[in-house]
Amino acid sequence: MRDKDSNKTKVTDKIAKTVTKVAKQTATATQKAASGTKNTIKSVVNGAKKPIYLDYSASTPVDKAVLDEMIPYFCENFGNANSMHSFGQTGGVALENSRKQVAQLFGVGSNEIYFTSGGTESDNWAIKGIMGARKDRTKLITSSVEHAAIMSSAEQVAKSGKEVVYLPVDEDGLVLPEYLQNAIDDNTALVSVMLANNEVGTIQPVAKLAEIAHKHGAYFHTDAVQAVGSMRVYPRELGVDLMSASGHKIYGPKGIGMLYVKNGVKIDRFMIGGHQERSMRGGTTNVPVVVGFAKALEIALRDLDKNTKQIAELRDMLVDGIMSQVPYVHYNGHKTLRLPQNASFSFDYIEGEAILMLLDLKGIACSSGSACSSGSLSPSHVLLAMNKPIEQAHGSLRFSLGKHTTKQDIEYTIQSVVDTCKELRKISPLFLDMGSNGTEI
Ligand code: PLP
Repeated sequence: MRDKDSNKTKVTDKIAKTVTKVAKQTATATQKAASGTKNTIKSVVNGAKKPIYLDYSASTPVDKAVLDEMIPYFCENFGNANSMHSFGQTGGVALENSRKQVAQLFGVGSNEIYFTSGGTESDNWAIKGIMGARKDRTKLITSSVEHAAIMSSAEQVAKSGKEVVYLPVDEDGLVLPEYLQNAIDDNTALVSVMLANNEVGTIQPVAKLAEIAHKHGAYFHTDAVQAVGSMRVYPRELGVDLMSASGHKIYGPKGIGMLYVKNGVKIDRFMIGGHQERSMRGGTTNVPVVVGFAKALEIALRDLDKNTKQIAELRDMLVDGIMSQVPYVHYNGHKTLRLPQNASFSFDYIEGEAILMLLDLKGIACSSGSACSSGSLSPSHVLLAMNKPIEQAHGSLRFSLGKHTTKQDIEYTIQSVVDTCKELRKISPLFLDMGSNGTEI
């Protein structure tokens, strides 16, 4: 055990030294660039024309057309949407028009859409709001691969003395319907399973799961934050009672999300205060971001087929490149039932964070595990739930592509991942210990 620990410390030290070395080289290159060469600093630093962003599942840039739509609501039409005067009415009309537009795009009623501050709030509200409102039933079922917003809300429900069951997943990250069938009973108030996973991209059989929940009189919530904008999502076709979405994953602004609540579903208020959002969520409505969310959704759905085809092709190119050129690598998640933008890998003998830091210095932004657990250095709960060994759960790296990703970005990324893995494995005692001299990669 102690040997393992000291090995780990050695690896961490060596990685830190390598990162420092590359950082020094980067600084020297940057200085050279600053002192008169024609190259831009960025091109000298990373050999790429511009920094490459492959973290679209963490956040997306706001579309120019979205920003244009929002701008009038900051300085000109700034009135409180609840005020009676003309300034307020302008804001109120924009708010209700946006709600109508969002409802139409999801094929639901306007009075079923509530605007929130983002996916996290929508998830918190769905879980706590339903568990609080249903006095007759006390059990919550969710999955073991949910986002932290659901996981933490479920923990709070458990602390209040209610029963919480976490469904297992198979090795591809799928919640099989039989898992729910075995766990559900007539005391179940709510089942919450995400539509698509943020770390490994696996798409869940939500329609089937919702059907099982309803057979037992339970409500069904889905966190569709990653799915909306990447696949066609219609709450009524899925048969869900509640659904969360977020603006900044679909080229809209941050700080805006929504919760779909099917008519007739009883849910507690989340934010108490004024009578905004039909008295269900107090607080002055942030009209510019609501307008931006509606516009972003409109554009995302208008361009969905074209974008997802292009993104999936580039993602497949990235996967093929890495899988064929880097040894000891695992492609995480379901091979076909997955989001078009997601490519998640685990690299044996090296930490995901180390690769991430070196790639960042080469001008490539990606993420280790989910954006929300990055920085914690704890293994991915999603990969652990998928029964992956702890080393793989530590070594994971997520690339998420977007509509601005190019073929050149992917070519440069493949080469950089190949080089980075070589560099890190050369100094990895774990890799050297397993009998290789480190030159075969
Ligand atoms: N749910 C999922 C699946 C997510 O990926 C995220 C964000 O990464 C959230 C919820 C939280 O959304 P927001 O950042 O809008 O709070």
